[in-house]
Amino acid sequence: MNSELQKKLIKLCGGDVFFDYSVSSLTSIGIGGNANAWIKVTDVETLRQTVDLLKRAGIKMKVIGNASNILVREAGFDGVIIKLSGDFFSGSKIKNNVVTAGGGISLGKLIITCCRSGLGGLEGTAGIPATIGGAVKMNASYKNAVSEKLLRVLILDKQGKYVSRGKEEIEFGYRSSSFGGEEIIVQAEFCLEKVPSEVLEKKFNSYIREKTRNQPLTEKTLGCIFKNQGKGSPSSGELIDKSGMKGARRGAAMVSRKHANFIVNTGGASSGDVIALMEDIQKKVKNVFKINLKPEIEIL
Ligand SMILES: Cc1cc2nc3c(=O)[nH]c(=O)nc-3n(C[C@H](O)[C@H](O)[C@H](O)COP(=O)(O)OP(=O)(O)OC[C@H]3O[C@@H](n4cnc5c(N)ncnc54)[C@H](O)[C@@H]3O)c2cc1C
Repeated sequence: MNSELQKKLIKLCGGDVFFDYSVSSLTSIGIGGNANAWIKVTDVETLRQTVDLLKRAGIKMKVIGNASNILVREAGFDGVIIKLSGDFFSGSKIKNNVVTAGGGISLGKLIITCCRSGLGGLEGTAGIPATIGGAVKMNASYKNAVSEKLLRVLILDKQGKYVSRGKEEIEFGYRSSSFGGEEIIVQAEFCLEKVPSEVLEKKFNSYIREKTRNQPLTEKTLGCIFKNQGKGSPSSGELIDKSGMKGARRGAAMVSRKHANFIVNTGGASSGDVIALMEDIQKKVKNVFKINLKPEIEIL
């Protein structure tokens, strides 16, 4: 990135631009090389102008949430990482039973706010370390999918315009949605149900307890590495476990002993370690069960 563009970015985003920045600290697995820049954007106009400036300069961009589903290679990202933060993007408002949340708010924080306000419908996604933008884009789900109670989203579209898109205009699937790669989810609105707070908090706590019991939530991971095959088939975690891969390692990357579909960075793992271990798992499961596991994570 040339110094002219760097100056323009600093003028636009002030102290929220970090050049030649190691992405690993922004990811849940703690792996990744440098990006040309990382920008924390805190308001809609700055976001619009930043995206416009980078597009005109032909610079690649990647919007991330908590990067809890993205493995960044050591080679880094030849482009700019954008993260939505600040009061607008990380806040939420409640009116009657409709909650409007910024794209950068943590899903956990939003669920707790809703539970305390006696609004149910999102607690089934408890324990997913996502932001709302990442959760909607991936249609994150645990007991329920995040899209179930979605009403509409506000996005910055490919043409650089803010547009509202109703749920009926969006396709949601298993860990997927129809948002284009250049579309940025800046806000999402959910229509929730009035439920006593005590009932919601009890449910929320039991889901968190269950998830903590079954998944290595306190370790550096990317959640489930491979997609499940669908209803009626054993889960990918079961297949990996039954093929004897729990505890298998490549460098400092290890198949979790708690949940075989999680790869843990035990300290200093590289993206190469994780990718090699993923390939080992795929080969083993293919040999034993004749099933091709497909990655759920995104490799950048
Ligand atoms: C311990 C652990 C447990 C997990 N459990 C679950 C689970 O139970 N269920 C589940 O579904 N997933 C789970 N995951 C995976 C992950 O949390 C989800 O995929 C989540 O939706 C990713 O959200 P994020 O904000 O971190 O998005 P990121 O990982 O940062 O990004 C994911 C994708 O969304 C895009 N994106 C992010 N923000 C925006 C935005 N504002 N606008 C447009 N695009 C955007 C990114 O470009 C990327 O393509 C788990 C992960 C971990 C580490």
